[in-house]
Amino acid sequence: MAEIVRLRPVRPCPICRKPSTQQFHPFCSARCANVDLNRWLTGSYVIPASTDSDPDEGEAPLDLETDDDI
Ligand SMILES: [Zn+2]
Repeated sequence: MAEIVRLRPVRPCPICRKPSTQQFHPFCSARCANVDLNRWLTGSYVIPASTDSDPDEGEAPLDLETDDDI
């Protein structure tokens, strides 16, 4: 009996570009998830305004200039 395993394309971690893990999706680790959260909290991310019905949720192109290791 053949077992079909569907491999989803692994998205790179938006923080450090490593392959993300299922547990911490879309990040590679809890550390990167926290980094992302901190960036949100500190307002590093620019949130586009006036997009009430954006079907692209979760797919926003993020141009991160800083890639510093904390
Ligand atoms: Zn990462």
